[in-house]
Amino acid sequence: ASYFWQPIMNLGNIFNNFINNIAYLERIFETIDEPVTVKDAEHAIKMPKIRGKVTFDHVTFAYDETKTILKDVSFTVNPGESVALVGPTGAGKSTIVNLISRFYNVNDGKVLIDDQDIADVTIHSLRAQMGIMMQDSFIFSGTIADNIRYGKLDATQEEIEKAGKIVCADPFIREMSKGYETQVRERGSMLSQGQKQLISFARTLLCDPAILILDEATSSIDVQTEKALQTGLNRMLKGRTSFIIAHRLSTIRGCDKIMYIDDGGIAEAGTHEELMKKKGRYYKLYTAQKSLH
Ligand code: ADP
Repeated sequence: ASYFWQPIMNLGNIFNNFINNIAYLERIFETIDEPVTVKDAEHAIKMPKIRGKVTFDHVTFAYDETKTILKDVSFTVNPGESVALVGPTGAGKSTIVNLISRFYNVNDGKVLIDDQDIADVTIHSLRAQMGIMMQDSFIFSGTIADNIRYGKLDATQEEIEKAGKIVCADPFIREMSKGYETQVRERGSMLSQGQKQLISFARTLLCDPAILILDEATSSIDVQTEKALQTGLNRMLKGRTSFIIAHRLSTIRGCDKIMYIDDGGIAEAGTHEELMKKKGRYYKLYTAQKSLH
């Protein structure tokens, strides 16, 4: 699906001088998923500054008539909490995050942010306050510093390097031939997947979204990078509400809440400890994965 990313990849060249971070984020939102079906409601208001409470209030959703994907799903996430979404493929994890960023409207029930029904706010004002990170981190042609700067176009070199340090990207960047001024290519082939993720963490940190959606990469990563990613992730998540389609045990364990999605709803929810005690589906998944490590 690489053609799919092309518009984003070209962005660096086209918009370099005048996009702001909001436009950048929105551009990504516009490009990552097909639906352009969702339009602002007639009297849509501007989403106020988001604190980060996210509520599903009896949400039912289907992409088409053939199959209901989510049935009467309700939950509340408090500002600043991190939620790991786990469960089998096709269970509806991506669908949940698609509804939070309003790529689709729900069929029944409500999605609320800070108690505001998101169906009644403009899509622009909503998504401008959200960050989304897909499995494949975006790398643009340019320097590593440029790549981080996309999170905040007026960021100083100092801010960029500080962000790099906070998310644990700094050590590997400094090892590169020209450090932060090293040129990378669009597909970032000289960077490992973990390194690309670390760069996108730094970018996101500068962007400072109130709500963060992260589809964690699945491929294996070396132990050292894994450690950096975990620390970097924890620091990036601090103070934001986050939804992570999580694959790594270290990430899942570190989240405030785990929701095990299956059969059109939340099969189990709780902290890692609570769900382990319960010895249900999460316990099974966790012990099965653990035996592979
Ligand atoms: P997960 O993220 O847990 O793997 P998804 O939310 O992607 O699951 O998918 C849930 C279900 O919705 C699956 O049966 C999938 O085939 C279906 N689905 C996902 N996206 C679409 C779409 N754009 N149109 C129709 N069906 C879809």
